[in-house]
Amino acid sequence: MPSPLRTGLLAAARSKRLERMASRLPLTRKVVDRFVAGETEQQALATSRDILDSGRFITIDHLGEDTTNSSQATATVSAYLSLLSALAPLAGRDTAAGGPRPVEVSLKLSALGQFVAADGDRIALENAHKICTAAEEAGVWVTVDAEDHTTTDSTLSIVRELRGDFPQLGTVLQAYLTRTEADCADLSGPGSRIRLCKGAYAEPASVAHQGDAVDEAYVRCLRVLMNGRGYPMVATHDPAMVEAGLRLAAEAGRGTDEYELQMLYGIRDTEQLRLVGQQRQLRVYLPYGTEWYGYFMRRLAEKPANLALFLRALTSQ
Ligand code: FAD
Repeated sequence: MPSPLRTGLLAAARSKRLERMASRLPLTRKVVDRFVAGETEQQALATSRDILDSGRFITIDHLGEDTTNSSQATATVSAYLSLLSALAPLAGRDTAAGGPRPVEVSLKLSALGQFVAADGDRIALENAHKICTAAEEAGVWVTVDAEDHTTTDSTLSIVRELRGDFPQLGTVLQAYLTRTEADCADLSGPGSRIRLCKGAYAEPASVAHQGDAVDEAYVRCLRVLMNGRGYPMVATHDPAMVEAGLRLAAEAGRGTDEYELQMLYGIRDTEQLRLVGQQRQLRVYLPYGTEWYGYFMRRLAEKPANLALFLRALTSQ
C-alpha cells in the first residue's frame, strides 16, 4: 500500500474520536466480521471449533489495547480467564505429549495495564501471570503480541520474567525493527517460541526498515530462528515469506512439527487450507470482542484490497 495512505490509516487506528464514529456506523459491522470472529466469547468458541475441525490450530485474541485504566485491565484478565475455562475441553484434543498445542491465546500487554501510570509494567506482569497460570491448567499455549516499538523493551523484559515460571510462553518479534535480528538470536534458545511477523505499526526509519528491506530482514530473521533451538512461528500471508519459511526449515533439518505457519482469520483462507492439506501445521489468529477498531484499521492499512472491501460496503449501503 502507498506509504502516505498506510501512514494515515495507521494514525487513524489510534484516534479515539474516529473509533467512536466508526463504531456507530451500522455498515462497519459487516466488513469487520470478515476479520473478527464476533463480539462474544460464544461466537469466538464456535468459530474456533470450526477452525480446529478443519485441521488448523488457533490462537485467540480478546481485542483491546492501550488501556491506561487498571480496572479495564482487570476486566481483560477476567475475559481471558472465562475464555480459558471454556477452551479447556477443546485444548486437550489432538495434543501429542510434548508436541505443539492446538489451542493458544494471544495477549497484548498494553491491554493488561502496561500503560497505567507509575506502575504499568508490574501490573501487566501480574495480570499476564494470572492468565498464564490459567492457560497452563487448561492446556493452552500463550503468546505475547508485539506492539509499537516504544513498548518492545518493556514487553521483552516482562516476557523474560514470565518465562521463569512458564518456559513455553511465546513472544512476537517484528522483522521491520532493526533490532530484531539480534533479538531473534537472543531468543532462539531451547523451548523458546517466537512468532515472526513483518510488523503492523507506523514506525520511523530511525528504528525500522522500510519498503523491500522489510522482506529481506524477515528472511534473515527466519534463518536465525530456523537454525536456532526454539520453535519458530512464521506469521505472514506473503507467499514469498511462506516459501522462505518452508525452505529454511527444510535446510535446517526441521520436521513439520518443529515449526508452524500462522495467518490471520479471514485472510487467505483457501491458501491456509491448501497448506494444511500438505500436512503443514498452520495456526489462525482469531480476534474477538467489541474493541475491534485498532485491529481492523491495521488490516485496512495492510492491503488495498482490504480497503476496497470497506469502501464497497460503504457505497452499497
Ligand atoms: P504483506 O507485506 O502485507 O503482504 C505481502 C503479500 O502477501 C501481498 O503482496 C499478497 O501477495 C499477500 N497478502 C497479504 N495480505 C493478503 C490478503 N489479505 N489476501 C491475499 N493476499 C495477501 N503485527 C504486529 O505488529 N504485532 C503482532 O503481534 C502481530 N501478530 C500477528 C500474528 C499473526 C498470526 C499474523 C499473520 C500477523 C501478525 N501481525 C502482527 C501482522 C503483521 O505484522 C503484518 O502486518 C501482516 O501479517 C501483513 O504482513 P504480511 O507478512 O502478511 O505481508
